[in-house]
Amino acid sequence: HNQEQIKEAAQFMKEHDRFLVLSHVNPDGDATGSALGVALILEKLGKTYIVINEGETPEKFSFLPRFELLRNLSQQPLDETFGAVIAVDCADESRMGDVRSLFASDAVLLNIDHHPTNDAFGTFNLIRTDAAATAEILYDVAVEAGVPFDKELALCIYTGLLTDTGGFRYSNTSPRVMEIAAQLLTYGVKPGEVAERCLEEITLAHVNILRRALQTLILTHQNQVASITVQPADFEEAGAQREDAGGLVNYCRNIEGVEVGITFIESEPGAIKVSMRARDRVDVAVIAKQFGGGGHAKAAGCTIRGEVADVQKRVWHAVGEALGVKEHE
Ligand code: 5GP
Ligand code: MN
Ligand code: MN
Repeated sequence: HNQEQIKEAAQFMKEHDRFLVLSHVNPDGDATGSALGVALILEKLGKTYIVINEGETPEKFSFLPRFELLRNLSQQPLDETFGAVIAVDCADESRMGDVRSLFASDAVLLNIDHHPTNDAFGTFNLIRTDAAATAEILYDVAVEAGVPFDKELALCIYTGLLTDTGGFRYSNTSPRVMEIAAQLLTYGVKPGEVAERCLEEITLAHVNILRRALQTLILTHQNQVASITVQPADFEEAGAQREDAGGLVNYCRNIEGVEVGITFIESEPGAIKVSMRARDRVDVAVIAKQFGGGGHAKAAGCTIRGEVADVQKRVWHAVGEALGVKEHE
């Protein structure tokens, strides 16, 4: 299990004193749980840190410890640069967004991630593609660093495991994930409460977006590809933010017989966020990579600039090539 890299990561946390901790743009439960988990480990080691992202972190994760310390660079500029950086759940440099502007010119960076498309952009790289979540790797780092586990640290790691496995349902749910999760429950994590906050509870704005989104659902490629499209007017009419459009892609992929589910989400005019979910036959990370994105074989994404109809055409063509079926067949 990359024992050398895990030792290196723990050593990195011990040998510096002040850290910049960040995750990826539009952070999810694994990104946020892992970033705050790193923060807690650093506290236990007597270190100081800033935990920051380019934009806002969804309010739904506000139950996590130290959530109030999470900074939003776009709203709160910072005039400090950092020599030691820890990036979690970021597959490449661009995923860190503008937070890169806070790196000192000689900064050393520890990259902890589980994406197969990770390009090892760090000074130190702890990449385990067999891990279901970055939080799973962080568990090993915490053990290696010798920090005591408590309910707060357990909650951060559990949240990453829960969300990146879709509630322990996706194919990345390994025996080890279940073992670690069981261990974390012994520190007092309440699985029902975490699942309620992360998976069950939805905003009214999400339901309003969902209503509109489902009306755009179309099937192409012999009904093997299902797509949903959400445009700026939908966000406006639903009173919704970008984060309210999360999870729509599952409605596409879950349809019987569908191999690839896709959402085209245009929350800002001209920038189309494409999310893809695959069943068995195609590796969507390979497709996302063709458009400058990345991810996992069964869950990947990218952002493509342009007109939505044009972006659809390009993505459907690439998916059709991978499936061996044309869009209009
Ligand atoms: P989602 O579609 O939920 O945003 O992301 C699905 C998976 O693809 C996640 O593992 C996420 O990290 C990855 N992903 C989504 N968008 C991008 C992107 O623009 N670049 C890269 N490298 N990965 C992405
Ligand atoms: Mn993530
Ligand atoms: Mn992840």
